Amino acid sequence: MKNAHHKQQKSWTSHLLTVVVSIFIIGVGYLIYLSLANKTDTPLNNQNYVSALKSKVETIDSNYPGIKIITEIANNPDTPFAVQYPQSTHQAFNDEIKTYIQTEKNHYITAINNAKQLKEKITGELNISFETYPHHSGLYSFVLVSNRYVEDEDGVIQIQSFLFNPETGETPTIEDIFEHDVERLTTISTIVQQQLHNDPALQDALLPEQAQEQTKPIWDNYQNVAITVDSLIFYFPENKMAAKTVGPLIVSIPLSEINELLAKKFKAQQDKEDLEDQQTVPQKEAQDTKEEVEKESTEVQSTSPSKRVALTFDDGPDPKVTMQILETLEKYNAKATFFMLGSRVEFYPEIAKNVQAAGHELGNHSWTHPNLNKASVDKVKDEIHNTSAIIEEVTGQKATLFRPPYGAFNDTVKAQSDLPIALWDVDTLDWKHKDPGHLLRSIKQTVKDGSIILMHDIHQSTADGLDAALAYLQNEGYTFVTMSELDE
Ligand code: ZN
Repeated sequence: MKNAHHKQQKSWTSHLLTVVVSIFIIGVGYLIYLSLANKTDTPLNNQNYVSALKSKVETIDSNYPGIKIITEIANNPDTPFAVQYPQSTHQAFNDEIKTYIQTEKNHYITAINNAKQLKEKITGELNISFETYPHHSGLYSFVLVSNRYVEDEDGVIQIQSFLFNPETGETPTIEDIFEHDVERLTTISTIVQQQLHNDPALQDALLPEQAQEQTKPIWDNYQNVAITVDSLIFYFPENKMAAKTVGPLIVSIPLSEINELLAKKFKAQQDKEDLEDQQTVPQKEAQDTKEEVEKESTEVQSTSPSKRVALTFDDGPDPKVTMQILETLEKYNAKATFFMLGSRVEFYPEIAKNVQAAGHELGNHSWTHPNLNKASVDKVKDEIHNTSAIIEEVTGQKATLFRPPYGAFNDTVKAQSDLPIALWDVDTLDWKHKDPGHLLRSIKQTVKDGSIILMHDIHQSTADGLDAALAYLQNEGYTFVTMSELDE
């Protein structure tokens, strides 16, 4: 009897919870609808963010034909979120993406509400951003990275890929890439398992039995995949086959290594050496093709020699990483912008001085890196003004720009900042991937003339990957300028 009563009570509370969650979701949906009805095409940088319970939705064109980028930002003090995702002219693809976004929001709101049963005042954050990898077949891989965090709990990082051809509307799967051939998948499974076992970063973190299970050659294990111009990338969920601290696992296989396994349209593009090897091609024809290839590659290198890009480094200074970055920048005669934390300038004044002495622009990134949308007016004032003060005191140079932590700002923050607010358009996600090679890959996919690239001078992997990224950009005809120079 006692048990039954207890059970009943429990189901009553869980019903109540469902109702509360539903009302909340409907509310959020309604607010999104309201702001959609009121949307503008103003670029992100010039946006006046609406504070409190409203979520701002805006649509901008991406660099890729047929793809738009939707950004939703909600500054609700309890459940703020910033999500960004692609949309196209194909309803089925759009729905699939939106369903995923909604599921993530639901998980987030449910987690907040669950936490609220134990503690009255709970805050959290949900950030979803994505990367786009085009492939020569016309296929795009959109890789959505969701960071969910609820106070007093471990954060959740989830990576979800979507393959889509905006021209045909096709959404191929891993089965299509390997022509439904399980034998080929078995080969891939072996490669993936070897890579995981040989990865020094996973040495102590990998759980061998779980890893074996999660990478078995069954199609379900390999659905989360992206195909780029030169590699096939698999994403595996965090906390399933390795310690949670390493986050989701990412395994990248060069297409050239597995070319014979791929369906025809996904094969790596033939390069010059392949053409030379093809003895059956008549000499004249081969010659022409060769010349064309050469002509094309010269053209790529010589287009618009005046392209400019602003490199920006946040969250430093750091005694080791910042110093290595300064060296690399000097090698390329590159000027960058460093958005420093006041607390770290106080701790490492010598490093801040070195940045100034090397001729870089100095930016303010707050004192302690809080989400300023949730801070009181006085706190916002202190965070910004104390940081500007210490930057000038230590380096003798004034900070010229303010970059709010997480890119989050509202009217209060704007009113308290006497410096222009400076955001970015290329997010390298260096803090997440911690992979030197990834820096170049992410820049390669999204950079354009006038881009502002976001990096962090506190991660060794960023310092290690910078040389290759700058070499690539220089070769593409970019010059490196500060953010203020970009506006000139
Ligand atoms: Zn930051």
